[in-house]
Amino acid sequence: MTTAQARPELDVQPSPLALLLLGREADPRSERGVECPGDLPSPSDPDLVERARAAKEKLGDKVFVLGHHYQRDEVIQFADVTGDSFKLAKDAAARPEAEYIVFCGVHFMAESADILTSDDQKVVLPDLAAGCSMADMATAEQVAECWDVLAEAGIAEQVVPVSYMNSSADIKAFTGKHGGTICTSSNAKRALDWAFEQGEKVLFLPDQHLGRNTAVRDMGMSLDDCVLYNPHKPNGGLTVEQLRNAKMILWRGHCSVHGRFSLDSVNDVRERIPGVNVLVHPECKHEVVTAADYVGSTEYIIKTLEAAPAGSKWAIGTELNLVRRVANAHPDKEVVFLDKTVCFCSTMNRIDLPHLVWALESLAEGKLVNRIQVDTETESFAKLALERMLALP
Ligand code: SF4
Repeated sequence: MTTAQARPELDVQPSPLALLLLGREADPRSERGVECPGDLPSPSDPDLVERARAAKEKLGDKVFVLGHHYQRDEVIQFADVTGDSFKLAKDAAARPEAEYIVFCGVHFMAESADILTSDDQKVVLPDLAAGCSMADMATAEQVAECWDVLAEAGIAEQVVPVSYMNSSADIKAFTGKHGGTICTSSNAKRALDWAFEQGEKVLFLPDQHLGRNTAVRDMGMSLDDCVLYNPHKPNGGLTVEQLRNAKMILWRGHCSVHGRFSLDSVNDVRERIPGVNVLVHPECKHEVVTAADYVGSTEYIIKTLEAAPAGSKWAIGTELNLVRRVANAHPDKEVVFLDKTVCFCSTMNRIDLPHLVWALESLAEGKLVNRIQVDTETESFAKLALERMLALP
């Protein structure tokens, strides 16, 4: 397995002064999507809208801007397509004439886009500090160590790794190399069905909640079939017997945003809004998903709201930018955030208008900035895992 980190290759570093001049200072070293500072971040200088438009116009077909659903409105308005990370990576691959793919999302998404696009296409992440706390919870070294633990317990041969899209290129490569597949929140059940045809146990990375929810809620397993592997404890904090008895070995990772919702959030909103439908993402905790009325991916959430009758009431447990956008798109329905304490993904929100303008203007001047490039070996194994997902029945 490669242990090389897929680090971005920088042709030009964003100078703090350049970002300051664009209206916002940034510290590229500070990252982690764990804060919940209140309302959505304030919008950037509206003058920047004109600059972004001009730079994008100058680049024409050479640039293709991807906008993840959790991005701010000020950024989404410049996206050529919007969607979840996998859809966006596929959209980029379908536009080979675009030399530059500007990914308004987080680091692992830009890596996936680089893996799925041609070598001639260059993927740019406007702010390199836009990481994902969940993806950071599983490093290549930790996962290699876990595999050694499974081998020592005599079960590695029976285990098939299944990794969520929200993982680094290194983890996707590990998965490909060990006969496993990638999954999204839409196809996790199909991926697990496939994996249990290949082996007797699954190592699910890095989101414990998606793994547990899919196994228990969608596949009828019991909670006792699942064990939690803690990479910070010797042998994952598990005995050999626990590992041998488990069907699902869940990595101890979670989303800092979806992990905030609790059973209290659900009970509280039902009390405040009689007749409300609770709709949550499967990255939420098991007790939240169990108490909800509907569970599904971001695309599912959007489609469910589109199909909902006028006058219906909805409490949604996912990222705040998406909830706001969905609420604005359906003024005939009552749409609220599931929790009273608002929370957005702070690393996603690092991509703001100043960073987007800086990236677009640099590209328009012929300077390639913040390129995300996955090394060849990592890319080939990660692609293998992604191709297995594409071939799922
Ligand atoms: S919402 Fe959660 S999983 Fe998505 S980028 Fe933010 S921290 Fe990562």
